Amino acid sequence: MKKNLVVKLLLSFILIVSIFGGLTSGTASAAQAFIKPATGITPTGGDFGDYRSHGSHNGIDISNNDANSPIKASAGGTVTTSGVNSYWGEYIILSHSIAGQSYKTIYAHMTTGSRKVFYGNTVVQGQLLGYMGSTGESTGQHLHFELHVGTTPVNPLPYINGTINPAPSYHEYDGTYASLRTKSVTGGDTINVYSHPGYGLKGTLPVGNQYKVYSRALGSDQKYYYAIGADTYVHQDNGTVTQYKGTVKSGTTVYVYDSINGTAKQAISAGSTYTLIAAREGWYAIDSTNWFKATDLNVTK
Ligand SMILES: [Zn+2]
Repeated sequence: MKKNLVVKLLLSFILIVSIFGGLTSGTASAAQAFIKPATGITPTGGDFGDYRSHGSHNGIDISNNDANSPIKASAGGTVTTSGVNSYWGEYIILSHSIAGQSYKTIYAHMTTGSRKVFYGNTVVQGQLLGYMGSTGESTGQHLHFELHVGTTPVNPLPYINGTINPAPSYHEYDGTYASLRTKSVTGGDTINVYSHPGYGLKGTLPVGNQYKVYSRALGSDQKYYYAIGADTYVHQDNGTVTQYKGTVKSGTTVYVYDSINGTAKQAISAGSTYTLIAAREGWYAIDSTNWFKATDLNVTK
């Protein structure tokens, strides 16, 4: 019991921050609030508003004939419906809040039993929702996709091609600095998750889902384990990790510090962009000895 506790404490202290040399910065790419949720073709100009026997077509249809064609969350949000009805077949509805405006996206005619997310789940942009199918009132494999601004259906095309981009969708500080997409090295459908870095098998997660990363720690096998939630660790081989980028805000002098609440080392010019390697207590690290206040950065995923 006592020994276990010591090991636990040790492991929580060796939260590793890798050393990258220098304060090298790059250019930020603008994040798009809504992305195309599936690969496939839509009629030229879209088919939003087309006449249908039941009324106006409130979305666009994206079609292809590939087996296991993934459907992804167009934007980060929350699952408000994951279900089945006679009209949409298997479908998912997400709600989003972007720059103070609420949105809703709908994904219909998914393959039977393919839904990966359920009521109340939080999803990130690009997260796998399920697979394209032809369930409900459908005559061939396609995704029926709707975007509602508030409660009004709009043509999603200008949103998913970036003509309308309601917000740069900066990441609000939540203690995470990266995302992790689960992957299998053995070809299985699931991966193991652990209650600690490298021990305490907790359960499994489906392959292809994306999660926020809070921290990483070295296990006794000298491999990294990524914390995707409280007491939930994924082995480095079972996740593709994408680190967020932080861009120094303008309008005020921004300093880089030697540690959390530490000494200011130098002023950094607005627009400088860095890859983040840790998030803690309202601060982001770009390497082990260079920290920014989270409020001084615009963070994109
Ligand atoms: Zn449709």
